[in-house]
Amino acid sequence: MSHRIPAELVLDARALLGEGPIWDVRRQALYWVDIAGGKVHIFDPTTGQDRAIDVGQPVGTIVPRRNGGALVALRDGFAALDLETGALTMIADPEAHLPQNRFNDGKCDPAGRFWAGTMRLAEDRTGAGSLYRLDPDLTVHKMWSNITVANGIAWSHDATTMYYIDTPTRMVVAFEYDLATGAIANPKPVISTPDGPGFPDGMTIDAEGMLWVAYWDGWRVVRWDPATGEALAVIELPVQRPTAPWFGGPDLDVLYITSARVGLSEEALQQQPHAGGLFAARPGVRGVPAFEFAG
Ligand code: CA
Repeated sequence: MSHRIPAELVLDARALLGEGPIWDVRRQALYWVDIAGGKVHIFDPTTGQDRAIDVGQPVGTIVPRRNGGALVALRDGFAALDLETGALTMIADPEAHLPQNRFNDGKCDPAGRFWAGTMRLAEDRTGAGSLYRLDPDLTVHKMWSNITVANGIAWSHDATTMYYIDTPTRMVVAFEYDLATGAIANPKPVISTPDGPGFPDGMTIDAEGMLWVAYWDGWRVVRWDPATGEALAVIELPVQRPTAPWFGGPDLDVLYITSARVGLSEEALQQQPHAGGLFAARPGVRGVPAFEFAG
């Protein structure tokens, strides 16, 4: 029986598709995105203030950059974002030939390479996405293909494993990871939830090496042991579509969770008025600092 942990609303953001929370240790702020709203948000939990930057197109994820500012994965590719002015500098668009695709989730590896995957916006999207790696020298490498909804990504603390979610598979797979070269190989399922509830979406890893996965349409975030496939803890949420978890706060002991209201009926929204909000839980375990883009 897994341990149940409560969560509270910390920002009634009403985001269409809140996603991609990540804590910037230097700024002591939580970055997150509203993919469908085309906005990057900066949330300061000490003041409760949230600032939004309109990036003018769907934005799948954001990562802090070692030299300041941030990188984003947009509909139109990888870009640098100046968090003060909101200025975007496009870096690379590996799918310029696929106008129906946009970037979705992604994060940096321990060496500061930015990994992010794409998905097709049309109904017929099976296998239409790919996973890319943007290196610190700003070269882009296509690392995996035949992905439908590229989502959560995380690395084991010894950096020999990359955990990955392609949402419709309802699995977390573990790739062998070569930190020196950024190569991946031999994906194997480590967590499988074929009967739900919901679909695995965003993911993070805690200081004990356990994975936290948000379940779209599953009303929950679950802590898993990837070595055994056992569920260790559950955070039940008052919203149907939690999207992604990340540890933040001065001690990295607050688990922030984004959520979505897109696609929910009027009736559903009446029953879950805080859909699209930002939630927080204190599960009694810490996260680890986010890896920054090293370019
Ligand atoms: Ca997602």
